[in-house]
Amino acid sequence: MPIGKIIKSLSGFYYVQSEGSVYQCKGRGNFRKKKITLLVGDDVTFEMDQNEEGYILDVQPRKNELVRPPIANIDQAIIVSSVVEPDFKPLLLDRFLVLIESMNIEPIIVLTKMDLLSEDGQASIESYKKDYEALGYQVVVGSSKIEDSLHEVSSYLEDKVTVIAGQSGVGKSSMLNALKPQLDLETNDISKSLGRGKHTTRHVELIDMYGGLVADTPGFSSLEFQTLEYDELPDCFPELREHGEYCKFRGCLHKKEPKCAVKEAVQNGDIPEYRYEHYLQFLEEIQNRKPRY
Ligand code: GDP
Ligand code: ZN
Repeated sequence: MPIGKIIKSLSGFYYVQSEGSVYQCKGRGNFRKKKITLLVGDDVTFEMDQNEEGYILDVQPRKNELVRPPIANIDQAIIVSSVVEPDFKPLLLDRFLVLIESMNIEPIIVLTKMDLLSEDGQASIESYKKDYEALGYQVVVGSSKIEDSLHEVSSYLEDKVTVIAGQSGVGKSSMLNALKPQLDLETNDISKSLGRGKHTTRHVELIDMYGGLVADTPGFSSLEFQTLEYDELPDCFPELREHGEYCKFRGCLHKKEPKCAVKEAVQNGDIPEYRYEHYLQFLEEIQNRKPRY
């Protein structure tokens, strides 16, 4: 039985990519009975009957799933952040990083619009790049107009399912268009902000790019920590995972506890102060979250 991945869902059909070809399939009735909704990104087994009509028979367990856009089995997320227009905001970047880490998705940081930045500004961005690289993240600094940085982004896509994240106006569509001109996504002009783009009734689709699949609709539109528990937060910071091992108390929240190795690392300059402050801010936000019903 062939296996493949759902790359698009439209009008009751699922489009399954398998060994370089795409098959139009329907779900077998028993998915509805089992209350399973098939998602783009699902790995499935399917069969083609004598009339070349395809049927999805089974679906593999998912390693994760995103609600908006609805996609399963995401390997990595590219967080696009502009360095100007809008300005680079480490707090917002850290929020994306935490949300992505909490879903066991690998983050990649891409800083765009460097072509618009003054020389002074560039030094500050380079210093942030060093900080985030020291945490173990891949950081690409460039622009949708700088060939080298696009090439670097494309090199991360092979064999992966990638979602793009980032606030509006940072250059997500411009980057995707520069990587694959046939996409022709609407960029931030008037028609896009009025929601009257070329693709008004958009369905999420995974697009072939550089040997991988990239979602054509950005993810992580809600930036609230809706399901993350406060004691899971330290795990979403690589430097707290590392230094937290040496705290005196297990389950240390690195707040007011004595003999906290994380606070020591902040004092020694081994952890950037702003990262620790963002951690405390997110912790408070989660601890003050109203219960959901
Ligand atoms: P999105 O909302 O994140 O998809 O952002 P867009 O791709 O629509 O870009 C927003 C605006 O920034 C548009 O006017 C783009 O032309 C511009 N832009 C995007 N990337 C760059 C870049 O790297 N350099 C420059 N100079 N402008 C850019
Ligand atoms: Zn601690």
